[in-house]
Amino acid sequence: MGTAAAATTRLLLHHHAAAGSERYRAQQLRYSASPFPLSLRSRSGRRDAAAGALLPDRVTPFSYGTDDDADDHPREECGLVGVVGDPDAASLCYLGLQKLQHRGEEGAGIVAVGGDGKLKSVTGLGLVADVFGDPARLASLPGPAAIGHVRYSTAGAAASLRNVQPFLAGYRFGQVAVAHNGNLVNYQALRNKLEARGSIFNTSSDTEVILHLIATSLSRPLLARVCDACERLAGAYSLLFLTADKMFAVRDPHGFRPLVMGRRRNGAVVFASETCALDLIDATYEREVQPGEVVVVDRRDMSVASACLVPHRPRRACVFEHIYFALPNSVVFSHAVHERRTAFGRALAEESPAPTADVVIPVPDSGFYAALGFARASGLEFQQGLIRWHYSGRSFIQPTQAIRDLAVKLKLAPVRGVIRGKSVVVVDDSLVRGTTSSKIVRLLRDAGAREVHMRIASPPVVGSCLYGIDTPSEGELISNRMDLEGVRREIGCDSLAFLSLDKLHGIYGDEAGDYCDACFSKNYPVLPTVPEPVVELEEA
Ligand code: SF4
Repeated sequence: MGTAAAATTRLLLHHHAAAGSERYRAQQLRYSASPFPLSLRSRSGRRDAAAGALLPDRVTPFSYGTDDDADDHPREECGLVGVVGDPDAASLCYLGLQKLQHRGEEGAGIVAVGGDGKLKSVTGLGLVADVFGDPARLASLPGPAAIGHVRYSTAGAAASLRNVQPFLAGYRFGQVAVAHNGNLVNYQALRNKLEARGSIFNTSSDTEVILHLIATSLSRPLLARVCDACERLAGAYSLLFLTADKMFAVRDPHGFRPLVMGRRRNGAVVFASETCALDLIDATYEREVQPGEVVVVDRRDMSVASACLVPHRPRRACVFEHIYFALPNSVVFSHAVHERRTAFGRALAEESPAPTADVVIPVPDSGFYAALGFARASGLEFQQGLIRWHYSGRSFIQPTQAIRDLAVKLKLAPVRGVIRGKSVVVVDDSLVRGTTSSKIVRLLRDAGAREVHMRIASPPVVGSCLYGIDTPSEGELISNRMDLEGVRREIGCDSLAFLSLDKLHGIYGDEAGDYCDACFSKNYPVLPTVPEPVVELEEA
């Protein structure tokens, strides 16, 4: 990790949106960055130069997919919603979180500011509807501003309520709550440094260091403290902060994870990870929070201000948001997700057609638009040949392989009339460990498919994500372990093809360089930083 510039300036723009004016005021803040010598630490705490070189503490191969053989996808780790300027802010956050449930199913929470200016928190483990199933819980969060969060667990935290966000803390100037989507690659370095200075941590989450950095910042106005804290972070972060009178929305300078801003008809400002949450609560999409931008909404006059973080980095939005994570009815990074996926499928058909096929079927639900694009481009019939059953919940602990195979059919079932006697192209959005794909091929053959041609609407996944996506270790990635023919044999299909990285770039044209594709290319935009050795102190 390089050293930040010793002294640079930040342009601060104030946009008084409540009055609808375009009045900007420029102000300069000075910032003096301190360098962080950094080192790597594996999750277990052992130093491991080879593995550690790419794996920060929050990459969680151990937990990946072990409980769900019917789903072989990386998992988004978090979703955010914030509402300011609406008397039902917490209820709107609740609805928005429901819409973002796909971004995190293991815990949810909302922090709201009441009329008395006090922040209150409700968090719990489980789905949003479970956490807020008791109406009294939402009713305990009245007030005009709230932020909400859904999450997947990270290492060592699967059942820990302590790690469920938003985090709420008090510091000497009041209360502040934070909700985070992403992963900090210098978390351990920052935490070591803070602990050496006496900070006490309550959770094992990287997000907590942000609160400590705000509390210990020497800057005075909260905006300057937030900027000061964020400028010390490396990696991926889309953040929402809530205080008694303000909400801050921040995106890291690379812009890895999405964060959008919208407005309700009553003037309430809404932030969310995806536009589908805005749609649900009748908020009109206005724009993305830009990479490196800090948007501040003051709930007292509903003024909106914007500042930028000092580090300017090349934009590196996560291309996997378009491939798999985001809902198809969302607009992410200014692109309609369903259009991107249809384009991936079209390009795949051009690059790797299946000339002997009779019918194209998607792996539901995420392969739907790519399969549609493939079918249209190749002039083949498009059919729903697999049905995903949504009610089975989490897989039970399956004692034998035979029972595990039956359990897969609980979630994915073939439509025999579509498949029997046909040469089938089955299109999936991505291929990670390959475990589900081999089961799908078996299901299709058992249902009478004459040939099964698998087409993957993204390049082979060869690297773990460092930026907030729960991916397996590199050793578990099937395309890292074997070549294309080896993967085909392992899966058992008649032919296999991936969308090439070049073709993927071609779809984005001039924008291609604005996207992170490290899990396909291993070109990591920012590497984990190396913590200083921890000095062990003896208790007096
Ligand atoms: S490594 Fe892959 S999943 Fe992670 S941010 Fe980059 S593109 Fe997204």
